[in-house]
Amino acid sequence: MANTAFQNALAQLATAAEILKFSPEVVRALYSPDRVLKADVTVRLDSGAEKTFTAFRSQYNDALGPYKGGIRFHQNVSEDEVKALSFWMMVKCAAVGLPLGGGKGGVIVNPKELSAGEIQRLSRAYIQAFYKHLGPTVDVPAPDVYTTPEIMGWMLDEYEKLTGTHAPGMITGKPLSLGGSRGRGSATAQGGVFVLEELMKKLGKKPEETTVAIQGFGNAGSYMAKILHGLGYKIVAVSDSQGGVYNEEGIDPQKAEKLKKAGGQLGCYCIGTVCTLEQMPSDGPCRAISNAELLELAVDVLVPAALENQITAENASRVKAKIIAELANGPTTPEADEILFQKGILVIPDVLTNAGGVTVSYFEQVQNASNYYWTEAEVMEKLKKIMVDAFNAVWATKEKYNIKMRTAAFVLALTRVAQAMRDRGN
Ligand code: NAD
Repeated sequence: MANTAFQNALAQLATAAEILKFSPEVVRALYSPDRVLKADVTVRLDSGAEKTFTAFRSQYNDALGPYKGGIRFHQNVSEDEVKALSFWMMVKCAAVGLPLGGGKGGVIVNPKELSAGEIQRLSRAYIQAFYKHLGPTVDVPAPDVYTTPEIMGWMLDEYEKLTGTHAPGMITGKPLSLGGSRGRGSATAQGGVFVLEELMKKLGKKPEETTVAIQGFGNAGSYMAKILHGLGYKIVAVSDSQGGVYNEEGIDPQKAEKLKKAGGQLGCYCIGTVCTLEQMPSDGPCRAISNAELLELAVDVLVPAALENQITAENASRVKAKIIAELANGPTTPEADEILFQKGILVIPDVLTNAGGVTVSYFEQVQNASNYYWTEAEVMEKLKKIMVDAFNAVWATKEKYNIKMRTAAFVLALTRVAQAMRDRGN
């Protein structure tokens, strides 16, 4: 049976702990979350009936600062998954040098089956269940899969009603009107682009000569597609939960997005022309592909931007990309990681590639705390500095120990977490 996400996370921890020669006490402390909160939350449906959902909040480690991490609304959410995601948040924040710990939340729900009103009531119920354990200096949630700035706004409102305070820093990824940061929407993708560009410089590769396939066309993936397209990269494939499209001549992500918004599905829009799948001859350059096919395309850069466990021991040997930039959390299993390493594929790990999101969330908190707001240009300048420095620190660690970039990011991050634990006398 395949490992769970948390077993994968612990395998990554074990590899880094061995290199760092951590004492058994430190390893034991890092082996499980500080706590996992779990609640059954009941929501009134539009029909008048009630439905109960299981909700979680995992608080992994707060040695470096308040727990920090998104809330996911998805039918596959589980306690194991939120534990793994909260562990990766701890590593991610520490890897890029943020004064934050790791947390993550989730609700087992298929949000596509709920109306906007039902989702709002579920979001408020989540805060009612956990608000005593949240707060700007305690634990700060944010959006994740199928949660949005609008949902963050409802959650903030519920928290402020329950506590009788104004506390915009209790949650990030908020709408601008409620203290959100400029640049937060595109931050995850933009951070990924900054690190990919650093790697491209090291390898002497040019955007115009680089083909890209992106799995997942949500917040992270669609911004990544648009930014890379704007920089001259050739996006040859994109996909969402319905499937994908491939066009060897390049896809215009703006047009693909428009069609998705209009019809609910990704269309096959070609550069310079408007050609839907139906209009394309079956032997033309543009065709429908499955998510499995997308992962195995012969491209320069593969960007998993959907869910975890997409590249596994089963398909890793067929992956032909030269670089994998993990915008999703945990898309590669440890077994697959080893296969990719042996094949010489460079993997920029999730904890680095997608750290732009939490970095701008941190900027959002800083702005909330000072009640003074920055321009988008200021946000991007500060984001670039953090991402470029983090990439170079990870690269230097990789070279020093002759290890994968993922292990290097873990080594850097866990060194910082362990130091903070020691300095606290823990
Ligand atoms: P989202 O809900 O906006 O988008 C998810 C996308 O994945 C959608 O296009 C959906 O159709 C697609 N998808 C779902 N199941 C799929 C499947 N089986 N195959 C292919 N595509 C599928 O979510 P998001 O915020 O873009 O998050 C995507 C990933 O990025 C997650 O792993 C998330 O944890 C990670 N991430 C997001 C942020 C952020 O700021 N949004 C930050 C860090 C990490």
